[in-house]
Amino acid sequence: MPSLQVVNPATEEVIATLDAVDESGVDAAVRRAHRAFEAWRTITPADRARLLRRFAEVVDAHLEELASLEVRNSGHTIRNARGEAANVRDVLLYYAGAPERFCGEQIPVVGGIDVTFREPLGVVGVIVPWNFPMPIAAWGFAPALAAGNTVVLKPAELTPLTAVRLGELALDAGLPEGVLTVIPGRGSVAGEALVRHPLVRKICFTGSTEVGKRIMRLAADGVKRITLELGGKSANIVFADADLDAAAAAAPYAVFDNAGQDCCARSRILVERSVYEEFLSRFEKAVRSVVVGAPEDERSEMGPLISAAQRERVAGYVVPDQVICRGSAPSGKGFWYPPTVVCPSGTGDPVWREEVFGPVVAVLPFDDEAEAVAMANDTEYGLSGSIWTRDVGRALRVARGVESGNLSVNSNTSVRYNTPFGGFKQSGLGRELGPHALEAFTEVKNVFIATS
Ligand code: NAD
Repeated sequence: MPSLQVVNPATEEVIATLDAVDESGVDAAVRRAHRAFEAWRTITPADRARLLRRFAEVVDAHLEELASLEVRNSGHTIRNARGEAANVRDVLLYYAGAPERFCGEQIPVVGGIDVTFREPLGVVGVIVPWNFPMPIAAWGFAPALAAGNTVVLKPAELTPLTAVRLGELALDAGLPEGVLTVIPGRGSVAGEALVRHPLVRKICFTGSTEVGKRIMRLAADGVKRITLELGGKSANIVFADADLDAAAAAAPYAVFDNAGQDCCARSRILVERSVYEEFLSRFEKAVRSVVVGAPEDERSEMGPLISAAQRERVAGYVVPDQVICRGSAPSGKGFWYPPTVVCPSGTGDPVWREEVFGPVVAVLPFDDEAEAVAMANDTEYGLSGSIWTRDVGRALRVARGVESGNLSVNSNTSVRYNTPFGGFKQSGLGRELGPHALEAFTEVKNVFIATS
């Protein structure tokens, strides 16, 4: 059986070797999930809720273990990794409220009663990228399970360890065998087999736009439901009337968090020309003070990139003459890359247009509100973004004008488990999290009962 070598990106050591699930393994997992579906969908809502709450409690009891596993597998800083494990718990608790509250409708009609039911789909495939292995898995499996589906989860090749552990914890919590199955494997093998499998009714995919498009094409053959969470190239727009200290202090974390390997990274900073230099001098100071170091160190704010290939890709975007400031990074073993600020030659440069997925941010000035919105929208992506201004009217105008699924004003918040998350344009299709996610894991069934 082919294997997956799992490497610690901070030390380059191999920390685990896993069997890679092949097509027949996927088939077996999907059939098991299909068999588990009937019992899971008909269990009482209170019991399904109770099992999800128990799963959350077991995750909570293993937070530190999950976090340190993520530190070693993904190079996430320990503080971030704790937050990610806690996010799994919170998402489970949030959706544990759903089985008993997710209601259909009663619609007035002539001659009888008309009611709608939200029926689960069946087996759902959740395919996860390597950048946030735990939260992104939970954003798929928690609402899917709450709505009565069973789930087969495929983690990314580079980061399968926490997903495998979550699968074990689900069983420990009492979820029946087959309700949540984790299959570590390659995208081109296990991922594709999951998308193609006739018993899989929906694919919930997070990853690159390129693979997302392929999944969309493959899913068309079976008219499968899909949710796609794809790439981003989000804008952080700073107006002259903003609290520049707050905007500049927060901006590094909006792009360098998780070493920039974040679909919501604000990797383009647009600054109103009249405060451009003033903003830059404060921003540069903030960038230089980002603490880059060993992920297990409580003081670290940024760790390494996930792989040597990713570091090479990131470095390929940086034109040395355009670098205006750099933070620090350890030398020696590990896939380190320092926080880097560039001023591109214009909006046509790849570093301005493409998703770098590393700690590189590009900064350009703008002249007025209309130009800021036009520049922000001049991209095929539309995932998130920030607007810094003290003018409430402008904040709302710009928020309505920017073609993006998740915007924050005077903050860089993107994702909350209780609000919808997803992209415009080529950043995705559908929404995860919040109350809307449940709809994406169910079909509406209409039933008419004649009364005369
Ligand atoms: P990727 O597209 O290479 O892989 C994502 C997952 O898909 C992995 O599990 C991979 O094994 C699997 N896969 C690859 N080829 C497949 C195929 N042919 N069929 C089925 N599955 C396949 O992405 P990545 O490099 O792991 O992650 C980085 C990308 O993810 C970035 O573009 C980033 O923006 C995006 N992302 C988006 C969001 C969001 O919510 N919008 C969140 C995180 C990451």
